[in-house]
Amino acid sequence: PSSILWLRRDLRRGDLPALGAAHDAADGSADAADTTDGQGEVAVVFVLDPTLWRGAGDARRAWLAESIKAADAAYDGRLCVREGDPVTVLPQLAAELGAGSVHVSRETTPAGRRRDGKVAAALARTGVQWVETGSPYAVGPGSVVNGEGTPYKVFTPFSRAWRDYGWPSPATEPAGLRLAQVRSDQSALTTLKQAREAPDLPSLPEAGEEAALRRWADFRDRALADYGTDRDRADLDGVSRLSPYLKIGAVHPRTLLADLADGRRGPGDGAERFATELAWREFYADVLWHHPRSAWQDLRTPLTGMDYDDAGGAVEAWRQGRTGYPVVDAAMRQLLHEGWMHNRMRMVTASFLTKDLHVWWPLGARHFLRHLIDGDIASNNHGWQWVAGTGTDASPYFRVFNPVTQGLRFDPHGDYVRRYVPELAHLEGKAAHEPWKRPDGYLHGYPQRVVDHAEERREALRRYEAARG
Ligand code: FAD
Repeated sequence: PSSILWLRRDLRRGDLPALGAAHDAADGSADAADTTDGQGEVAVVFVLDPTLWRGAGDARRAWLAESIKAADAAYDGRLCVREGDPVTVLPQLAAELGAGSVHVSRETTPAGRRRDGKVAAALARTGVQWVETGSPYAVGPGSVVNGEGTPYKVFTPFSRAWRDYGWPSPATEPAGLRLAQVRSDQSALTTLKQAREAPDLPSLPEAGEEAALRRWADFRDRALADYGTDRDRADLDGVSRLSPYLKIGAVHPRTLLADLADGRRGPGDGAERFATELAWREFYADVLWHHPRSAWQDLRTPLTGMDYDDAGGAVEAWRQGRTGYPVVDAAMRQLLHEGWMHNRMRMVTASFLTKDLHVWWPLGARHFLRHLIDGDIASNNHGWQWVAGTGTDASPYFRVFNPVTQGLRFDPHGDYVRRYVPELAHLEGKAAHEPWKRPDGYLHGYPQRVVDHAEERREALRRYEAARG
């Protein structure tokens, strides 16, 4: 083969510009008469990096392993999986195959950028070219800047400029693509198989780009028109649940945006709103691009001197979904059971940890990243900073979500609570949100409230005001 396509956050075959670039490089360097020794073929590889693998929870591992399996099928069983540090694996593979270039979609997270810099340098030492084409975003992070050439700090002007910037049409598969058959590491295949078959896994969605596109088509035709109004309702099936696919790159946002823009959609502001939500994903990636330290540190400094509590028993109750606040518990259990949580509930549970339990947001962000199958450092950690009031364009520090009124508004019939908290299944309708009001509310082993929300709200405001001087 004369080129390598290294898949990372782009486990798909459709709408993948780096595949086109890899094919062009392979095709251009092939001797037209010689098709016997793999010349002109593209070797597609995934590198299982033990450093990243170790940090992932079982659900995340299983989701990745299922997604790799699906990508292998999409590449006609020719996805090569190798195990090890990419800095050594890629140069070795290039030498083994006689490849002249390694092609990727540009990685944009701080750790990914550091790693890619090292891999590119190692390849350069052996004369192998490193080529970045596209990224996991419709607009590459760092591209959208204001009139002065500086990055946007606030979402709304960013999203306007992001739309004006525009994005290319989806890429089509190069004609005459030939895929190389390259041996995988047996140890890597075994590791992936074990991850897929791990005991007590949450129920995961079907993996792969075909499943992602089916999910999109179903959502588009069934729920997109009402998305603007239904997206906040935790009890309804009103959101796309595409985040795990976007995370792994089984589908690219450009594919979805092109479909939204083609004018066939129904009435309502759903399509517009959906594009705006995709823009949040792009905004947070852009913020991380410009401020790599914002991954784990407060982006805004006024709250740097905040007085936080250490994690104690109440935090453990939060992790397990046993705080005594039904909607918080339903959401935290949804996270453990499905590896996913509804957006409104991510805000409610993050507010509960940071403002009712007074814990610094990175502790919660870490718990989410361990369990979410869509766990993404930019969207997750900046989502946490938004709730904590420490991010750029954050929720105001004095906004403290009330877990009861949030439940009553966004799960008005109590269905979401009953789905995940069986101890409350005997409470009808919205009574599920306030079991303490019913004498039999606690009969089924449901815990008492770990804190008093009204009291902790006052305490949070006191601490925030003290920190702001
Ligand atoms: P939909 O409502 O169908 O939206 C479509 C897509 O738009 C999503 O898949 C996602 O890619 C993007 N999107 C929507 N809302 C947001 C948002 N607020 N920020 C960034 N992108 C958004 N999203 C992740 O993908 N990974 C995370 O790790 C993550 N952690 C979060 C943590 C917290 C504390 C908060 C408040 C939000 C977090 N989000 C995260 C954003 C959002 O909750 C999820 O993207 C959304 O719930 C995914 O469900 P969906 O695909 O059905 O979303």
